Amino acid sequence: MSESSVDLCERYRVRPGSSVDLAAWDPAEIGEFRSPKQGKKALKRYRKTLRKLQDRFYAWNEKALLVVLQGMDTAGKDGTIKHVMRGVNPQGVHVTSFKVPTPEELAHDYLWRIHKAIPKRGMIGIFNRSHYEDVLVVRVHNLVPPEVWSRRYDQINAFEKHLSENNVVILKFFLHISKEEQARRLQARLDNPEKRWKFSKNDLKERMLWDAYQDAYADALTRCSTSYAPWYIIPSDHKWYRNYVVGQILTETLARLDPHYPEPEAGLDTITIS
Ligand code: AMP
Ligand code: MG
Repeated sequence: MSESSVDLCERYRVRPGSSVDLAAWDPAEIGEFRSPKQGKKALKRYRKTLRKLQDRFYAWNEKALLVVLQGMDTAGKDGTIKHVMRGVNPQGVHVTSFKVPTPEELAHDYLWRIHKAIPKRGMIGIFNRSHYEDVLVVRVHNLVPPEVWSRRYDQINAFEKHLSENNVVILKFFLHISKEEQARRLQARLDNPEKRWKFSKNDLKERMLWDAYQDAYADALTRCSTSYAPWYIIPSDHKWYRNYVVGQILTETLARLDPHYPEPEAGLDTITIS
């Protein structure tokens, strides 16, 4: 690979203030790799570094890392977690999947359940869906009036700014797939008995609303990519490339934080255990 890793992180980051047109982002991109095998090997190398960095991050106990995963059905939110986090110490990672809000959650403001799930220092928290559902599914299905959801972009930015000023480092990944790739993956879920449990007839209803979702995503990416909580648009038609890019951005971000093991107590050198 001639592409430097920093370039790749920059390549997929949504610049704050820029307007996102998803049609201009190719979901089938594979960078400079010539085969999936090459990409998988490269991810393996990142995973090794990620494992070491996470160990230090946990011991360091200074910051929390929040990773938000969003994407259309079948975009690979589960798969990314499985493949990128493989081998990382489970004690330092917490995954939260956000479903249709419960009556209790609905009785609170929409960020209540989110704030409760924010990782504590030392931890990597992964959100499988997030507060962004409240400007995505909620907007597409008119679950609240436009004057309510339209105020949420600023609220989300303020919330994320608050978190980032309180030791939470935030990364947001939009797993970008094409409508054709989604058709193939939904069909695969139907055809493969081991995948059928993931299929919901509701996914087909959502698929009919593809364009409305793409519009809602474009607005969320445009309005909520900030210097303190950037959005990345990850080409996800090829699972191995998606995993590689997410793995790399995660690893580079942790490396830049430069986590280190805390100073041990003084005088340990002279102790011998008998
Ligand atoms: P899955 O991720 O396939 O388990 O599905 C979870 C479902 O919960 C998806 O259809 C989401 O759109 C839905 N969901 C998540 N958060 C919200 C929310 N705040 N309001 C309404 N539906 C939501
Ligand atoms: Mg689903």
